[in-house]
Amino acid sequence: MSSFSGKSVLVLGGSRGIGAAIVRRFASDGAKVAFTYFSSPDDAQALATETGSEALRADSGDRDFLIALIDSLGPLDVLVVNSGILGAGDPLEIPPDDIDRLFRINIHAPYHSAVAAARHMPDGGRIVFIGSANADRMPMSGLAAYSASKSALKGMVKGLARDFGARGITVNVVQPGPTDTDMNPADGPLKDVMHSFMAIKRHTTSAEVAGLVAYLAGPEAGIITGAAYNIDGGFTA
Ligand code: NDP
Repeated sequence: MSSFSGKSVLVLGGSRGIGAAIVRRFASDGAKVAFTYFSSPDDAQALATETGSEALRADSGDRDFLIALIDSLGPLDVLVVNSGILGAGDPLEIPPDDIDRLFRINIHAPYHSAVAAARHMPDGGRIVFIGSANADRMPMSGLAAYSASKSALKGMVKGLARDFGARGITVNVVQPGPTDTDMNPADGPLKDVMHSFMAIKRHTTSAEVAGLVAYLAGPEAGIITGAAYNIDGGFTA
């Protein structure tokens, strides 16, 4: 029997990159997986067909739609909130509405979706956020809102761990360093700068991040909660 056989998993932002690797991992471990997407319907449909999972269109920036969707899915054993945007640029130039949308997707969506999922989650459920090593180290300019949003998740998991701990529900954040995706390609222009901050000078793979998520969502991690795990080649060391 696979380790997630019979488990129901929802991944927010699963169409590409790290989220898609998480969908693949849970599906291959036997879970019933649903995932959301927003701008990439073709990638989402291809992944759903490949993995036998269900693709659901939902903007993580739309709080009420997200809460209603999670309510409609019934009890989830595992919620992974991966959807996130970068919003890099000169803070004097970025439109304030863009920053507010970044906060809605990167901070508000994890909070509201975790609470919505916990309403129906069985005892022993798992909530995992995908944060960033930039919560702990921000060595470049132009990413203040992004790093602030990822730092918020560290406080959020501590509080939610207290809120849901009596039910054995764990809440943790996985903080990747540079990871090879559309957001941060391993052959991108900032590759050498980013690797200069790392002890192991290569991008993380999405599958490596998915492996840590699967561990935290699995039966061996029932006592781990309110914690942040860096997976970053020593970016924060
Ligand atoms: P990508 O940009 O490659 O993929 C982002 C994923 O999030 C896509 O599936 C996208 O779906 C989804 N998404 C984005 N906005 C929304 C939205 N409004 N509603 C629903 N889904 C949305 O990013 P990565 O895979 O690299 O990043 C995934 C997570 O990991 C993010 O939270 C990111 O901050 C974090 N991270 C990434 C690092 C990296 O180096 N790559 C390092 C540290 C953290 P769609 O295209 O369908 O809209």
